[in-house]
Amino acid sequence: MAERALRGTRLGATSYENDRNTDLAPRQEVTFDCPKGHRFTVPFSAEAELPTNWECRICGALAVTSTGDMPTPKKIKPPRSHWDMLMERRTVADLEEVLAERLAVIRGQRAPQQAPEPRHAARQRKSA
Ligand SMILES: [Zn+2]
Repeated sequence: MAERALRGTRLGATSYENDRNTDLAPRQEVTFDCPKGHRFTVPFSAEAELPTNWECRICGALAVTSTGDMPTPKKIKPPRSHWDMLMERRTVADLEEVLAERLAVIRGQRAPQQAPEPRHAARQRKSA
């Protein structure tokens, strides 16, 4: 009985796969114009970020989209240094103030026989 259930097809038999009921991924066609007058379309996924130029399929020259959008040169941001970022938040006057504050703290720590601040110990006991 079990053998009968194993009716199948020969290896290499025709595939039963077909395009019916197969949903192709959504796509869009983009038309490119080559400077030498060639025009061709390239299919892209609907979600793809569309390029503004494409190598011509006929002559290999750089073709641009027929919408006339010229390739926009990528804006290259100069890398921001830590100093640049700091200067966005602070002015030199601010920094002088912070520096003076920190120096005062450091000098205070170095000063002999200063009472330690008790707040850390008190806070730790309360938690948990
Ligand atoms: Zn061409």
